[in-house]
Amino acid sequence: MADNLAIVGLGPSNVNLVAQLVEQTRTLEQLSGSPLPPKTLYLIDHEGNHGTGKAWGRHAHPSMLFSHTVGGFSDGFTDWLKNSEDAWMPKVEAHHDGALKTWFEQNADALAQKDYGKVHFPRFTYGMFMKEKLYDALQGLPKSLSVVMLDGKVTGVGANELGNELAFEKPATEVTLVKDSDGVISVQPKEGTTLTSLTVDMDVIGVGPPEPKPFVAMQGNRDYFHNPTELHSTREGDNFAGQFKQAVMEKYKESGQKVEVGILGAGLSFLDMVNLIYNDKELKEAVSLSSISSTGYTRTVQEAAEGKQKDMAPESQAALNGMDVRFIAAKVEDLQPATDGAGITVKTSDKHLDEADVKYRDGARSDKREHTFDIVVQAIGFGKWKEQGVFKSGYNAGVFKEDTTIRALNIDTEQKIAPTHYINGFVAEKVIGDAIARRGLESQGFLNNVYRNSPVLAANIMRGMYSEQIQNIGENLQGSISQQPELERFGKAEAKTQEKVV
Ligand SMILES: Cc1cc2nc3c(=O)[nH]c(=O)nc-3n(C[C@H](O)[C@H](O)[C@H](O)COP(=O)(O)OP(=O)(O)OC[C@H]3O[C@@H](n4cnc5c(N)ncnc54)[C@H](O)[C@@H]3O)c2cc1C
Repeated sequence: MADNLAIVGLGPSNVNLVAQLVEQTRTLEQLSGSPLPPKTLYLIDHEGNHGTGKAWGRHAHPSMLFSHTVGGFSDGFTDWLKNSEDAWMPKVEAHHDGALKTWFEQNADALAQKDYGKVHFPRFTYGMFMKEKLYDALQGLPKSLSVVMLDGKVTGVGANELGNELAFEKPATEVTLVKDSDGVISVQPKEGTTLTSLTVDMDVIGVGPPEPKPFVAMQGNRDYFHNPTELHSTREGDNFAGQFKQAVMEKYKESGQKVEVGILGAGLSFLDMVNLIYNDKELKEAVSLSSISSTGYTRTVQEAAEGKQKDMAPESQAALNGMDVRFIAAKVEDLQPATDGAGITVKTSDKHLDEADVKYRDGARSDKREHTFDIVVQAIGFGKWKEQGVFKSGYNAGVFKEDTTIRALNIDTEQKIAPTHYINGFVAEKVIGDAIARRGLESQGFLNNVYRNSPVLAANIMRGMYSEQIQNIGENLQGSISQQPELERFGKAEAKTQEKVV
């Protein structure tokens, strides 16, 4: 029976899970009638992302928006928007004439009518909601449950004779969530344990999308930003948007010329960059923007330009239409510091454009194979799970296996990737979607699916932590029921009311 559990990553997926684990432990304590054995939850994240995740936390610039409207959410977000205007409204109002100028203009009616479901909200508001969810879950914990929150990046997952061993990049230190008198919740240091590694009985890995691989020759290059999907550059401190603006403005002031910014990619992260630049007067003035992608457009951008994108934020569309972006249709092969020492050269190929039936943006094919920019931002999707971070280490250590039929991480229907390792969130997206479908529920988008699946994942984990107690309750109730109770049904997720088939 597991006495402790490490939860690696505290983005939306694992915040919902923690809330469920706490709730189910409380219910079990009540049902047991006697104290439960003590358990410890280690909650681990880094870069101050505790409770928010990468896309919604401190690296999410106010101009960065949800890629969809938020009306379909049943995880409490839309209610929170209505009930917590005092919390989020001043934060968005602070950017009324700046980063959110276009947002306020385009959403004037919906905001006036408080029809928040129709709006592509700034992503940081979801981070505020999530952090509050985590904070609330950790107040008044069940007696048997201790929580240790750690600030540390897990770099390795392996095994030792005592259990699952997690290695940290730097010693992990204890932190806590603190709410100030204005209700703002922040991650604060706490006196306590410092750990170079942690051995636990079970873990749940929910670290979000795998990072794309950085270009080797660019490591440490101050003009290279890897990347807005990770929302940080190679430099320590500050946030991505702040570092990007500083780099642009330094060059602009020095040369008096527009700064050539090349974005690798033309998808949602490219739109983040467009919103960021367009809504900042100084940046808009200083930047000449190019985007390199294999066809010179993606569906997102092309449909947006044609006004066809179903769920395109009107403010992103306005920003895109308001900027003179040079689109280049080419595949990126490599990046090198420019030979004259100023800027970065992007080496490209475009043979794929000669293939039959390949469509590319008119005028986007270039004669040049090399394009030099003052600053390059890598915004090319996500990386491969086997190539980066915790999954790579677990795979190399033989802990995690590959499902060779689909060339993906091998995840079973209980979200296990190995006997005592669970996975949650982005990498398990398909398994979570299938679980929702098995229960007869319609998919309502990834974030909602993660929320609606959290009671079930929590119940699976609870069986590994409290098997005896769950069995005892089952035996005490024998006669009226022949099966063990399904703990997820005691959880408070709305899945209860929506379930069509059990
Ligand atoms: C720029 C961007 C925009 C997005 N926009 C949307 C959107 O509009 N709508 C949508 O549905 N989805 C969006 N997504 C997808 C998004 O990843 C998921 O919606 C959601 O955030 C996934 O939740 P998660 O908890 O699985 O992962 P994340 O939110 O990514 O959280 C993972 C957490 O793990 C932490 N972590 C990572 N590695 C380690 C490690 N080695 N050690 C310790 N902690 C670690 C991170 O700091 C992070 O806090 C976006 C993603 C990005 C990157």
